[in-house]
Amino acid sequence: MLLLPLLLPALLRPHPSAAGWTRPHAPPAPRRALPPHSVAAASLLPPPLAARDAWAATLDYPAFRKEVHELGLRLAEAQSLDDVRHLKKMILWSNAFGVLGLATMWSSSPLLRLLSIVGLSTWTCTRWTMIGHHISHGGYNRQDDPKKGGSGRFCTYRFAVGSVYRRARDWFDWMLPEAWNVEHNNLHHYRLSESGDPDLVERNLDLMRTIPLPRWLKYVGVGALAAMWKWYYYAPNTYKQLKISEMRKDGKTVSEAEAHEPFTLPVALFDPVEAKKYGTGPVDFMKKVMGPFLLARFFLLPAPLLLFGARFYWAAVTNLALADVLSNIHSFIIIATNHCGDDMYKFDNSCAPRTGSFYMRAITSSANFRTSNGVRADGTARKLHGFRADVNDFFHGWLNYQIEHHCFPQLSMLSYQKAAPQLRAICENHGVPYVQQNVFRRLKKTADVMVGASSMRPFDPAWEYAPDAFTWADQKQLEAQVLKDQLEGTSKAVA
Ligand SMILES: [Zn+2]
Repeated sequence: MLLLPLLLPALLRPHPSAAGWTRPHAPPAPRRALPPHSVAAASLLPPPLAARDAWAATLDYPAFRKEVHELGLRLAEAQSLDDVRHLKKMILWSNAFGVLGLATMWSSSPLLRLLSIVGLSTWTCTRWTMIGHHISHGGYNRQDDPKKGGSGRFCTYRFAVGSVYRRARDWFDWMLPEAWNVEHNNLHHYRLSESGDPDLVERNLDLMRTIPLPRWLKYVGVGALAAMWKWYYYAPNTYKQLKISEMRKDGKTVSEAEAHEPFTLPVALFDPVEAKKYGTGPVDFMKKVMGPFLLARFFLLPAPLLLFGARFYWAAVTNLALADVLSNIHSFIIIATNHCGDDMYKFDNSCAPRTGSFYMRAITSSANFRTSNGVRADGTARKLHGFRADVNDFFHGWLNYQIEHHCFPQLSMLSYQKAAPQLRAICENHGVPYVQQNVFRRLKKTADVMVGASSMRPFDPAWEYAPDAFTWADQKQLEAQVLKDQLEGTSKAVA
């Protein structure tokens, strides 16, 4: 069992048939499915919808789109310097955990070691999920714009990108921020749960799902993956997507099938032929992506402790490594579970941004976790903001508003607190499934998909709303769209 992490590279290597259920270039459905009770054209109809999919045949896409879109506009317009102040408060909380971790990392006593590991882990995790994530999406671009009196410190184009210094100052982690921007802000968000989504868990773990091993062993494998997924999966895979984006800008062709294959660490380091296809190799990858963080975080950061003795230095190296494991697990629990489960839909074709279909997919293919706002069991409304809401959301890395985040990726953290009850009400009015569950229940559902015990829910192309169908010409077009959104704010930039 202890060897399982070593087996994982083999287990999780891209599989030639990894495309699985997808039909990347299937033409858009020419019409919507008629309600199942229609008899006239019965022979032409797809099979009747299951009860839990019935909403898909009756959704009034234009009306639904109008309400969601207007909510996004209202939220964007209401953002102010309060949002930047709230961001700074969350940065302060995150840094406080960092200070706690750094101040105690020299110790090998059990209590101080625990404090150090929790402090360092929470610092790293929240720096990624709350701060790097929302700033890189442009959540504060308009409020912190230097042309309008802002500092520019929290604008997408200045934060963490452009130099190793800025990366180290703003968001130092295993992933290269520029690569994250391509993989996450562009591909994952605008092709959510379709074949072009690089984070499609069901496809990425196709081999794990189908390999004939005892299921309990596969669950152990999921645990091992959780402990190392950021450097094992995210760092190399985001870099591959960055390289593909550069290649496509240069007019080179990269097939969709190749682009979708997960590029894990063993491939990046030990498969030079595969790596060369994307203009990289072990030296380039270590130099640009993982090397600076590996060296600075684990060996240079604790170096001053050598003045006091080697045992303090090595205690710190150990605590930093253990904190990295915990941070991987924490982030896996709140991120890998966002779009996975047998109640999350997957799609065959693309749709245009900010159409009714785009909003519908953002909602039906995302799960929210516990939020502090909303309605109590006795029917009274909870406060939207405040200390309790912020504490809850902080430890969820603000990923408990995943539905709202996918509808309006360029909003602030404060806006998501305001958005959730309103979006939920719109969904209830239109019968669109809005899933909100405890994060550990979602973890179980995610692990079930990873080991092949359950599968994502297919959204039949025949149910699609044809006017929203869209085909991305290439990466350049997608990037132009994302840039436009970030400059103008969510919902303002019409596709
Ligand atoms: Zn995002």
